[in-house]
Amino acid sequence: MSLPIIVTIDGPAGTGKSSAAAQLADRLGFDMLDTGAMYRAVALLAIENSIDPSDEARLARAMDQVSLQVDFSSRPPTIRLGTRDVHERIRDGDVTGIVSLVASHHEVRVRMVEAQRQVATQHDRLVTEGRDQGSVVFPNATVRVWLDARPEVRAHRRAEELRMRGESIDERRVLAEIVQRDASDRSRSEGPLRQPDGSHAIDTSDIAFADVVDALERLVRLELSATSMRCGCGGDA
Ligand code: C5P
Repeated sequence: MSLPIIVTIDGPAGTGKSSAAAQLADRLGFDMLDTGAMYRAVALLAIENSIDPSDEARLARAMDQVSLQVDFSSRPPTIRLGTRDVHERIRDGDVTGIVSLVASHHEVRVRMVEAQRQVATQHDRLVTEGRDQGSVVFPNATVRVWLDARPEVRAHRRAEELRMRGESIDERRVLAEIVQRDASDRSRSEGPLRQPDGSHAIDTSDIAFADVVDALERLVRLELSATSMRCGCGGDA
């Protein structure tokens, strides 16, 4: 039996983590986990049940009463809250506006970290992206990557994404929202946004998206062949 291979990609909002993780997973034949979507689904749960996003105990109770599943039957996977596919809905502004607060709670994070580790037991070739994947959830991952970019570049990319969805966008507002969300993600006590020790950092500000994916693929393949040479256990992807 070959060893599990986990690739983590962490970084602030708008660095292109989800798209890069999805393409990297496709190239390697791995599964992909978007952990931001999981936190967004919890934020949606709060909205739909009129739960104050700062009410940690009520949020935890609501999480324990609903199934939150990643559906790996589509590529990239979608997210299901109860019986509904909420993949599109969780990108809306009301969810984005409270997700960081929801994600700051200990009771929320322990449940999410547990769920993410559970996914890894069932998908042993996994590219997982978020804020704490290489630092907290999978500190021994085969490859840990940190993606970053200048805030204006990230805001521009996020605004383009939203325009593609037909939303009319004020880019300065997107920038302010991104800066505020990053500050909140960085300053929380549990699972804060930070570059994992021993991770490979890539600043994507001035790199075309395809080149970012190429760089990631090179990094992973190099690490896999080095690992298989070290242990003689065959880590080919
Ligand atoms: O990646 P995305 O922008 O969808 O993430 C939404 C939010 O979910 C982040 O701003 C952060 O507050 C939270 N998050 C987290 N830990 C992760 C992934 C996302 O706290 N691993």
